[in-house]
Parts: sequence; C-alpha cells; structure tokens
Amino acid sequence: MDKSKVKAIVFDLDGTLYEDTHHFDYYANQLEKRITDNHKADFRDDYELSIVYKHPMQVGRIYDVKRDLILVTDNGYVKKAFEWNGTQLNKELINELYPDQITYDFHSMLNCGDIWWVLISIATHYGLDGKESNEAFLETRSFMMCEDFIMKPIPGLKQMLNSLKDNHIDLFMLTNSPEPDSEAILKKLKIDELFSKKFFNGNKPISTQKWFEEIQQHYHVPFDEILSVGDNLINEIDPARQLGCQTILIDTHGVNKGAGADYIVRNMSEALPIIAKLTKITE
Ligand SMILES: [Mg+2]
Repeated sequence: MDKSKVKAIVFDLDGTLYEDTHHFDYYANQLEKRITDNHKADFRDDYELSIVYKHPMQVGRIYDVKRDLILVTDNGYVKKAFEWNGTQLNKELINELYPDQITYDFHSMLNCGDIWWVLISIATHYGLDGKESNEAFLETRSFMMCEDFIMKPIPGLKQMLNSLKDNHIDLFMLTNSPEPDSEAILKKLKIDELFSKKFFNGNKPISTQKWFEEIQQHYHVPFDEILSVGDNLINEIDPARQLGCQTILIDTHGVNKGAGADYIVRNMSEALPIIAKLTKITE
C-alpha cells in the first residue's frame, strides 16, 4: 500500500543536517583534559579503537554505567552484553540482569547512537562525572560556533529545504543540543530561517513522542504524513514509527542494517531524492 504524502518533516540536527566530524577530536581533547593523568592514555586508546569498531564500546551500543557493561539491544531488550575488556556475558546472566526492556536516560543508561555518546561513555568509564562531561560538551559547542570551525554544507540540502518550504511542507528541527550553539550551526549552514519551529534541548528519546504529538496537534498533520529524518535509531526513528510516522534513518556507520525504518541511507545526500519522492515535489 502506498504511504500517505508527507506534509511535515522533522529533522535531527547533529549528524543529519550537517555531516562534519572534526569536532569529535576537539571534544575528545576536552574530555581528556578532565580525566585523571593515570587514565588519559587509556581514554585516548579506547577512543581511537571505538571509532574503527575495534572496541566493544562503539556507535549503536548502550552503556550501563552502574554495571560498567556495554549492551547490544533490540527494541530495548538486551541481546548481548560485554565487559569493558570485551568479555561477553552468557545468556543466563543477561536474562538475570536484564529481564525487562531497558529504559534510557542521560546518566545511568546511555544510548550511544552517535560519537558524542561513545565519547561520554568512555570518559564515564574512566571516572568523569556528568558535570565534567557537560562542561567539555559546552566547550566543544562553543568551538563549533566560532569562525575557526568551518562547516561543509551538504550539497543540495539547502536547495531542497527551500523547495520543500515553497511547496508548503512544514519543516521542523528537533535536537537534544542547546539553542545558542545549534542556532549558530544552522546560521553557518544558512538554513536557520527555513523551519516552522525549532525544538532545542529535546530530551530524545524520552520526549520524542511528546514533540511529535505537539506538531500533530498544533500544525494539524496526521502522524502518517509526518516524516522523521535522523541518524539515531533510538532517538528519532523508533519513537516516530510507534506513532505511525514515516522514517528515514541515516546510518552513517552502517550499524543499523536490520532496523525497521522505512528507508535506511548512508548520508543525507542519499536521503534527498527519497524526501522529494515522499513529498511529491520535484527537486
Ligand atoms: Mg544526530
């Protein structure tokens, strides 16, 4: 059956509306500065291994802070669990520790859907607390706001957003990041004025559905005519699908092949023709 024509699109910001990654090294440096001297080298080694998928902590996994375990989940159920050194827990123990669906938060069960959270998890493993990680995060976002941080716009994205707007498709931006730096990033990309509404500090995945419900009610768009576009399966895709929205997952790292998104692409450039098709506009 054909899906409904999309009338509203909710975009994530980081890793979706821009694809630059050089700020992660800056962030790693900011975190490393705050880690005790005896763990700085370990932190650096684990970071370098994690981004090439040679460490159990990697994009797409969950970090259980209290138990110091790295989890692989499917729909919130734990399928695999690793100790930090890579030792895998047996099925019996997994069932005993995690009999129910797990709930994500931002302090004890971390959803590492992108490199931001992989870095936070590694830093947490080496003793950094949430306050220190947040300071490092805010310093990184300040760096991203300054002129030295050159951003490379995604070819065709701005043109596509303009064309969607001209065709009366409501555009939204929903990010977990704070407003000042996110606005500065959107300004750099020259797309800051194209959205009907921007949601900052969005508290995804916990509050994702709340914002989609607000859009549905306030802008009078049924869920099946709303498209969610993002690079984080747990934050942007699963909650939107549960409401009946259409979804495009940007799976930059190729870790979500079995995910239930309507479309899975490697980057925004691949998503643009799909968006054109779903909204029935011509680019
Ligand atoms: Mg993102």
